[in-house]
Amino acid sequence: MAERKPVFVMDEDVERTKGKDAQSNNIEAAKAVGETIKTTLGPSGMDKMLVNSTGNVIVTNDGSTILGEMDIDHPAAKMIVEVSETQDEEVGDGTTTAVLLTSKLLSKAEDMLDQDIHPTIIAEGYREAEEKSMEILDEMKQDITIADDKEILRNVAKTAMTGKGVIGDKDILAKTAVDAVTYVTKETEDGYNAKLDNIKMETKTGANISDTQLIEGMVIDKDKPHPEMPDKIENTKIAVLDTEIEVGETETDAEVTIDSPGQRQKFLEREEKQLKEKVEKINETGANVVFCEEAIDDVAQQYLVNKGIHALKRVDESDINKIAKATGASVVSNINELTEDDLGEAETVREEALAGDKVTYIEGCKELKALTVLLRGGTEQLVEEAERTLDDAIDVVATAINDGDTIAGGGAPEAELSLKLRDYAATIGGREQIAIEAFADALESIPLTLAENAGLDPMDTLVNLKKQHEEDNQNAGIDGYEEKITDMTEKGVLEPIKIKKQAMKSATEATEMVLRIDDVLSSKTTE
Ligand code: ADP
Repeated sequence: MAERKPVFVMDEDVERTKGKDAQSNNIEAAKAVGETIKTTLGPSGMDKMLVNSTGNVIVTNDGSTILGEMDIDHPAAKMIVEVSETQDEEVGDGTTTAVLLTSKLLSKAEDMLDQDIHPTIIAEGYREAEEKSMEILDEMKQDITIADDKEILRNVAKTAMTGKGVIGDKDILAKTAVDAVTYVTKETEDGYNAKLDNIKMETKTGANISDTQLIEGMVIDKDKPHPEMPDKIENTKIAVLDTEIEVGETETDAEVTIDSPGQRQKFLEREEKQLKEKVEKINETGANVVFCEEAIDDVAQQYLVNKGIHALKRVDESDINKIAKATGASVVSNINELTEDDLGEAETVREEALAGDKVTYIEGCKELKALTVLLRGGTEQLVEEAERTLDDAIDVVATAINDGDTIAGGGAPEAELSLKLRDYAATIGGREQIAIEAFADALESIPLTLAENAGLDPMDTLVNLKKQHEEDNQNAGIDGYEEKITDMTEKGVLEPIKIKKQAMKSATEATEMVLRIDDVLSSKTTE
């Protein structure tokens, strides 16, 4: 018989970790990520200073920003980072909570693995606990209707801004977020629908955050390129172009030899004719305003003036798209193809001075009820930070409005869930009971960490908090500022219920995924 040759299915450079080693290695990585961001949780959470390889410094308290900036390369840790990204994309907040929960669920799973409980049983128990938690959270929720609950929404915005740097300006930013989101909210058959696309944010330094204003319509930070263009146009027909009004490239690229003044004159005349034709084409469609993403030739500007057409050149791409959406215009790339049907409409387009600069207002847009938030601040850094904070608050307020339900914060839901899940676990029995109880333990890490970060004794506080919940105070939570346990709804610490639900769902999913891995194969990176 021929001698059997060994079969190699993998490159010898592939590193392999199997079974318990693989599991515990992954769990350690997840725990390390949890430990890193733990101190940032809640109103008294600390900030992190992140310095990248080019020396750029970011000071932040935001879980997903921190993890996004860290150069994480452990595969399981990367999965946890994805949890925070999903959380941020889906609901705009709760990233630290989601990551901390994942890390605790895995750490508790490690204890169960040591007791020889199979990962599948753990995963099933966790899933069951998560499903039960959704029911319990629904029992705790408070419905809101935006028409008369602006106060609640402002509290939701403030809770979302907790721990962020702009502490002194929370009230004004919360009011701005709520006024802006409610302005672009429509009531539909299926409930409320906040359309955040309709909100445009402009930032300007040179004033205080308290000077921030909401402007109905759109504000474009641009002024007209030619002084003789009109300052105000009513009943506008707007052409939106993502191209330039210049002499076409092919014409300028072509080699032309000019050897007499007459030829030069002819050449210039030809160029002017082309520009004139482009403006004629725009004029024929009936447009009296042109927003152009690229340049507009000086000669073309003069032709536009002659036709009484107002124009803006080099408008940002994002603004071009927003203008098109709001006014109902189509963005056109080839002027020769521009037709009347492509034009958008707005009641007025006017130029006015704003904070020392000339800007353009587009009001009464045909398609969308657009709104501009003009965010002010003393310095560039301050305005940028306020913008990030306001952006988050706007997302969270929209989540609350679209979803319609809020829930108390400050660790109240986690404490209540853990109490009720333990009762539930007792009715299940067996090994799954252990997993459901472990889930309840993991949830307690949220109030524990909030207490720890507030400088309270974590264990004592948790014991007192549990006692309150046993006495049916389901909204009892940790007041991070006054260092005591109190009713969070009375304190106005409210969050959209969706943030809690999403955090628990993604934490459970990621945990399950990590638990199911018992073999890690990784190619060694070659130099
Ligand atoms: P996340 O990224 O998870 O949102 P945060 O650092 O923003 O992390 O902290 C959120 C936690 O802090 C939530 O549990 C929330 O209920 C709680 N929290 C927010 N504001 C307060 C407050 N004023 N008092 C007590 N807890 C608060």
